[in-house]
Amino acid sequence: LARLFGPINQLSSLQSNYLTALVSFDRLFEVLDLKPLIQERPDAIALPADRTADIEFEDVTFRYPSAKEVSLASLETLALPAPERSSDALALRGVSFRAPAGKLTALVGPSGAGKTTISQLVARLYEPTEGVVRIGGHDVRDLTLASLHGTVGMVTQDAHMFHDTIRANLLYAKPTATEAELIEACEAAQVWDLINSLPNGLDTVVGDRGYRFSGGEKQRLSIARLLLKAPSVVVLDEATAHLDSESEAAVQKALRTALAGRTALVIAHRLSTIREADQILVLEAGRVVERGRHAELIDGGGLYADLYQTQFANPPAPRPDDEPDDAS
Ligand code: ADP
Ligand code: MG
Repeated sequence: LARLFGPINQLSSLQSNYLTALVSFDRLFEVLDLKPLIQERPDAIALPADRTADIEFEDVTFRYPSAKEVSLASLETLALPAPERSSDALALRGVSFRAPAGKLTALVGPSGAGKTTISQLVARLYEPTEGVVRIGGHDVRDLTLASLHGTVGMVTQDAHMFHDTIRANLLYAKPTATEAELIEACEAAQVWDLINSLPNGLDTVVGDRGYRFSGGEKQRLSIARLLLKAPSVVVLDEATAHLDSESEAAVQKALRTALAGRTALVIAHRLSTIREADQILVLEAGRVVERGRHAELIDGGGLYADLYQTQFANPPAPRPDDEPDDAS
């Protein structure tokens, strides 16, 4: 499934106004080359799922593929001129860091700094333009997709729920899970009381035409999936923007359980997470500009200290424009 995300993300970044003026969107899908850009090497290595693994970025530079690169051949077929490049800007510039196994690394920084991009490169939803991303010492491009997806668990703010039962959505993370395991994971994720209160319990159908979970509930369900999957590496977009304080406390508790002992890379918005982090990476305009622990960075008096002042010294204001990817 994750293989689909790269191309879909690219599609959403196409200059679709320009293109749809000329061809209908259905037609566009037909002509665009939608084969996954991410492919497994014939000699790919399977990373053992039970192993703890660190994450390493070595001099990673990344530019999102332009519409031109995605669809040049298709456009030529249609005899259309290539679209203007949507952006030549680098999303990441020479990013190097190590997220040690079993530790919590927090990514902080202003909107557009590259936090989400880093999380996507870990899961190989995209590949670096330059440099290497390694998990457990292996270039992620050398790993089998199955072992990569078994090793890396992602929880994002727009948790993808299939239009199916809650049970099916949970079993997707661990097809062999027993009823008791499902309930245990939901309890730990602070979402069991809710599920249990629904007339059809685990067999409740979710999604647009079914029961509609709130943002916080969806996030807790995706934490339940994470607990079932028990990956050694967790990539988390903590995004609390749409959580009320009750579910925020519940999510917090669930996350503590889910992250314990795992290699965690967390796009952190909560001060409590940032304070607890073993390492904080401060990003600005695609670069790591500061790194260290909370107290060190405060003492440093740089960008982190500024962000801390504006975000946490006063009660956090809602920041609806923080996550440009929220709508995707
Ligand atoms: P953050 O998560 O820190 O807010 P992102 O990683 O989402 O930042 O974005 C980093 C940069 O990459 C920004 O300049 C953003 O506009 C750009 N960007 C993000 N997603 C895409 C995309 N799908 N296509 C093109 N550019 C993108
Ligand atoms: Mg983001």
